[in-house]
Amino acid sequence: MKTVNHWIGGKTVEGASGTYGQVTDPATGAVTTRVAFASAEEVDAAVAAAKSAYETWGGSSLAARTSVLFAYRALLDAHREEIARLITAEHGKVHSDALGEVARGLEIVELACGITTQLKGELSTQVSSRVDVASIRQPLGVVAGITPFNFPAMVPMWMFPLAIACGNTFVLKPSEKDPSAAILLAELAAEAGLPDGVLNVVNGGRTAVDRLLVHPDVAAVSFVGSTPIARHIHTTATAHGKRVQALGGAKNHMLVLPDADLDAAADAAVSAAYGSAGERCMAISAVVAVGAAGDELVAKIRERAEKIKIGPGDDPASEMGPLITKAHRDKVASYVHGAAAQGAEVVLDGTGFTVEGYENGHWIGLSLLDKVPTDADAYRDEIFGPVLCVLRADTYEEGVALINASPWGNGTAVFTRDGGAARRFQLEVEAGMVGVNVPIPVPVGYHSFGGWKDSLFGAHHIYGNDGVHFYTRGKVVTTRWPDPEDGGVDLGFPSHR
Ligand code: NAD
Repeated sequence: MKTVNHWIGGKTVEGASGTYGQVTDPATGAVTTRVAFASAEEVDAAVAAAKSAYETWGGSSLAARTSVLFAYRALLDAHREEIARLITAEHGKVHSDALGEVARGLEIVELACGITTQLKGELSTQVSSRVDVASIRQPLGVVAGITPFNFPAMVPMWMFPLAIACGNTFVLKPSEKDPSAAILLAELAAEAGLPDGVLNVVNGGRTAVDRLLVHPDVAAVSFVGSTPIARHIHTTATAHGKRVQALGGAKNHMLVLPDADLDAAADAAVSAAYGSAGERCMAISAVVAVGAAGDELVAKIRERAEKIKIGPGDDPASEMGPLITKAHRDKVASYVHGAAAQGAEVVLDGTGFTVEGYENGHWIGLSLLDKVPTDADAYRDEIFGPVLCVLRADTYEEGVALINASPWGNGTAVFTRDGGAARRFQLEVEAGMVGVNVPIPVPVGYHSFGGWKDSLFGAHHIYGNDGVHFYTRGKVVTTRWPDPEDGGVDLGFPSHR
């Protein structure tokens, strides 16, 4: 069986704690890999390697950093297929979706290649007689990233390329459920010429994470995962003096107004709800149908959902793969089983689905629940599976109020032909990312990604300008060069002449 170890100081370091986790192929249910779980001491070794590398990397030239990043970009581009295959083997998502994940991660590497523009700073000359003021941004030191299972390559790439471009060094703790892609990303970075210790990967679970959160040499923590853990990360790491951005879970709503193109809305709802088997933090998990269009919309969603081909991610015919673990599959199924008793109409029940020849895979079919009451568990919880809840509202105002009552505020979308209504929605809805006739409005790399409310703890969104700000701290330098006219004591507060 394959073993995934740690990557510290530019080389593979075998796990020494004696504790391992199991990685499963979700399509077959077979354990394929064991992953080393780092002890606190092993985390300390990774942080020490990063701290030592920071001594030179933190002061390296922008030209040196960007030349590594350009080489890295080329290597990642050449290895897209290999990274995507690793993702499919451990996560289960279909190959085309895995390739899409790699492409969206590459966007942030490309952004990092242009860090020269982002770090230019600001200069004001002659703010007072012979006085100039410069605002510059400098790296923080060692920063840590903790990432979820659902995007094993993209979410790490949301973090470390920009962090290292800004001059920091990095310790990544990927998901223990699908750790191989992160190790390949680190190996390719070394091949691109990244100095040893600038990017380190420690595998494991809570022990490793909790050590990073309190380590005195870790300056900042980026986290992406579920809301309860995001809250724990934010509380603990800020209490230990660290800068934190902790992105949490979601329940993303799509508001469909009666004037919308219902075919386009149904296409979008099915793609966004069931893509990657619903295991996306930006998946649409609740459609709010306004007015009379509800019945027709549900019929159109059903018609499309019934045609989705489910199968192993490496079969080109598959449109949707299995869920990450057997336990998660069973949990998702329990929401569908409990829905009718809590007042929902079960239009499609995918819980009995399996794939011939792959009976031990973590399969579940597509489920569609209509007229779901807002107090039903299927609506209140983040299910993170292929279950779409439809809720009904009589008016636009009722629909927006329903969305804004959600504790989460990650992504949302409105489907309409009415520009005025769409504009109102953009301003009134409480979410960090809004789509207008776009169901999954994941911002491009040069705009930042982040939700509101329980979907993000901390002031900074991830990547884009917010990412650069998160991974740097500001400094303002006020300069006056001596002149015979200057001089004399003045106890007044500095003012300008
Ligand atoms: P998770 O919260 O279980 O795990 C995320 C990371 O935290 C993993 O590295 C894991 O090892 C670690 N972790 C888990 N339990 C921990 C604990 N008790 N103490 C310390 N660390 C712990 O999330 P997941 O199941 O891997 O990913 C799915 C979740 O991530 C969903 O809720 C999804 O919405 C969310 N997500 C959010 C975004 C976003 O951008 N907001 C993006 C992707 C995923």
